[in-house]
Amino acid sequence: MNLVLLLPEDLIERDGPCARAVLHDRRLDHLRRVHRAAPGRELRVGLLGGRQGRATVEAIDATAATLRVVLDTPSPPKLPLTLLLALPRPKTLRRMLQTAATMGIQRVVLMNSWRVDKSYWKSPQLEPAAIAEQLRLGLEQGGDTMPPQVDVERLLVPFAKERLDVLAAGTTRLLAHPAAPTPCPRHRAEPITLALGPEGGFIADEVALFEHHGFAPVALGPRLLRVEQALPALVGRLT
Ligand code: SAM
Repeated sequence: MNLVLLLPEDLIERDGPCARAVLHDRRLDHLRRVHRAAPGRELRVGLLGGRQGRATVEAIDATAATLRVVLDTPSPPKLPLTLLLALPRPKTLRRMLQTAATMGIQRVVLMNSWRVDKSYWKSPQLEPAAIAEQLRLGLEQGGDTMPPQVDVERLLVPFAKERLDVLAAGTTRLLAHPAAPTPCPRHRAEPITLALGPEGGFIADEVALFEHHGFAPVALGPRLLRVEQALPALVGRLT
């Protein structure tokens, strides 16, 4: 945890950028076990959806930590990147959401695809609270307070027909596809919408559907990467 992420309900006093916060949950445990925090200790903190800054530990014991907080610094700007992610298996989904938040991705759409196992759509990991928890873990790692917007699209064709063009308007549209003859471009400053396939990859009809909506299939090279490897490789290459 590189930044202690505060929730609005943690704040017991607020006066402009100054606040006092009380923590009880896993963050208290982390402060005690990992940071070995004691009164007077300074910590990097941020308010979910708000600014970040510093906190001083006023008191800490097994039941609560009280922090005196100054929130005066904006979080880093988001990457102008929208990720269209074919729903992965629940364990991978957790990691992908964390990675997206850590890397500063602006928006994530979890979408269906032919080779997405139907059982994945029943996962409790898709509950809004479960998604929010993974995003918070990713923000704590990256030192950010602004989570990506996450949307869920359970039907690919209606999503593509009715919403994809609006969502991707004004962006460069790329579909990561190992079989594509075109290499993924490098160092792009403009907004990008990037589609990432399921474990088994996109089927030909899906590649054609995305191409119809202006997406260029691009490859990272001849090796087949897991989605959790492909995402950081693609983001590192594109930004
Ligand atoms: N057998 C599948 C195929 O050939 O598409 C492999 C799918 S891979 C495990 C899952 C997703 O990661 C792919 O659909 C693609 O979006 C992305 N990916 C993995 N390796 C890639 C590469 N070398 N180039 C571009 N995208 C890649």
